[in-house]
Amino acid sequence: MTFKILIVEDEADIAEPMRVGLTDEGYSVEWASTGRAAIQRLVDHWDLIILDLMLPDLPGESIVNYLKQQPDYPAILVLTARGSVQDKLSLFRQGCDDYLTKPFIYAELLEHVRALLRRSQRVNTTECQYEDIQLDPSTFRLCAGTEQTILTPKEASILRMFLAAPGRVISRKEILQGVWGLREEPDTNFIGVHLFNLRKKLSEVKRDAWLQTVRSSGFVLCRPEGN
Ligand code: CA
Repeated sequence: MTFKILIVEDEADIAEPMRVGLTDEGYSVEWASTGRAAIQRLVDHWDLIILDLMLPDLPGESIVNYLKQQPDYPAILVLTARGSVQDKLSLFRQGCDDYLTKPFIYAELLEHVRALLRRSQRVNTTECQYEDIQLDPSTFRLCAGTEQTILTPKEASILRMFLAAPGRVISRKEILQGVWGLREEPDTNFIGVHLFNLRKKLSEVKRDAWLQTVRSSGFVLCRPEGN
């Protein structure tokens, strides 16, 4: 599997050598030079975001906050010129996984990238499996036993919320917030069609209703009764 890395950095002198170097390592790398361009790209699946905090249009922290609303947010490696212990502790509290203080050498960056991706891979495989239901977060392939189907990115994001918390009732509101980052449904049944299709695909591979409605509270992923 090829890891996907998004570099968010406004300085081409820093971003371009990283992009070339990491691409040579076999990673799939893209570069966003502004915060807004980065946020537009975040609808795609990424394994790692390399994030410069000092962007011309948005503070890097707002991108971290945006990422944290996603159910399956990628590992975040922050590039920062601010190097005090307090600054670093504050980055970890905000949800960043690691940091590098500018200036850094490429070899150092590469070691941090490798370590983070090893860690995220371990988390991803446990989060994306429940009993024999398995989701590949990069290809959106859903498998159970010998059956398989392909989910849309939104269906995969919804399913990942359930796979991360099997047996727990998840409300429509949580799904809306987690997958779309919205507080209010823009129209009635905005998420209904995605849920309907996800349940249909899940029942195709499992031949039973593993994603169940809990009246007036939400939905739950669990073994159906008598199964
Ligand atoms: Ca910068």
